[in-house]
Amino acid sequence: MVSITVLSLLLSIQRPDTGLAAEVRIALATAPIEVFEKDTGHVSVTGILVLDVGGQEAPLAFAWIVPSFRQTPTVLVYRRGPSGELQRVTEGLAPGRLQPLSGRLRDAHTLGQAADLTVGHGEPVDTMKFISAAIGQRMSVARYHGFFHLDMRLGFAGYVDLSDRTLPPTDTATCGSFESAESMPSRGGDLLATVCRRTSLRCRRRISPSTE
Ligand SMILES: [Zn+2]
Repeated sequence: MVSITVLSLLLSIQRPDTGLAAEVRIALATAPIEVFEKDTGHVSVTGILVLDVGGQEAPLAFAWIVPSFRQTPTVLVYRRGPSGELQRVTEGLAPGRLQPLSGRLRDAHTLGQAADLTVGHGEPVDTMKFISAAIGQRMSVARYHGFFHLDMRLGFAGYVDLSDRTLPPTDTATCGSFESAESMPSRGGDLLATVCRRTSLRCRRRISPSTE
């Protein structure tokens, strides 16, 4: 079973770690993120931010990406493991609102590798148990208000929680008509606010981060 690291953490201070950011950049270029049975997406990187985070012994690296598929988190999170190896945190982020389809992103459903599910049929459900089980089956999970999107990517199991976002009124049980807003870090002072405002991260205070 793959455990989920839920990012209910406190950002504290920034500590530059260019080595970590460099390793993350290599991982983003080489590790599978959007590899499906029939197709592979292209992921580009718009910025990497390394932060000390409350409750974590080592800094986390937040990588803003532009995915090809609209169900991919727009921010992936990395850390060092016990032996110093690079690890991707299972939970990614997707700051910002859900918006109508832009036409620039592809849909995993069209590859026959995805499904949208409602669970429980009105009865209480152990949501985290369901999500953990899906990830344990090497699925990638997006949680929306009222339903889950699951897809089968090769070499990438992950989770992103979008259940606090408002869905279009015409589409309450599928992800067919919306996508996450493009999320790009700026070099200005609002970079961290981008993360803090609409994710499960709770920010202790504003800092002045930098990107590379
Ligand atoms: Zn879906």
